[in-house]
Amino acid sequence: MILPINTYSDPVLGLKAKPLKGVDAAIEALIAEMFDTMYKAPGIGLAAPQVGHSIRLVVVDISSIEKYADFKPMVVINPRIVAVRGRNAMEEGCLSLPGVAGDVVRPSAITLHYRDEKFEEQTADFDAMMARVLQHEIDHLDGKLFVDRMEKRDRRKIQKELDAIAEGRVKADYPLARDAAKIVAEV
Ligand code: ZN
Repeated sequence: MILPINTYSDPVLGLKAKPLKGVDAAIEALIAEMFDTMYKAPGIGLAAPQVGHSIRLVVVDISSIEKYADFKPMVVINPRIVAVRGRNAMEEGCLSLPGVAGDVVRPSAITLHYRDEKFEEQTADFDAMMARVLQHEIDHLDGKLFVDRMEKRDRRKIQKELDAIAEGRVKADYPLARDAAKIVAEV
């Protein structure tokens, strides 16, 4: 099932998400739906708060990007960045901010402690695109969006687009939660 995506200014995106205590059938179903939703959009990462669940769960698949075709889809639960190395700027976008993109400076490599889809503990190093996507998605679990990390000057340039999203004046090729809520309300 494709889930509607919550957009900029939706309160769920500003919350600190709760850790998971395990993976049960409901979480497994949510993980499958998050992958479906991410592929449909299409996107390369999706955090549970973006589909209205304030829990520390992320899915990532960067294999659609040329250089990264060998990368396997990944489920990341209760992640904790335990070390960072380097810094670089990269342009980011977000399914919760349709049509908005901007440069963000972040560490270029990370060591991540997390639980996988079987809730088994893992520690692994990530660099390049994976480090970038993971940090972006983990920010979602802490109520942060990439625009919060942009230079003030750059952010001012996109403020109009942000206001438009906040006011519901935005369209995307994938379902948005606000529209879904509207449809329910109209019925
Ligand atoms: Zn995002």
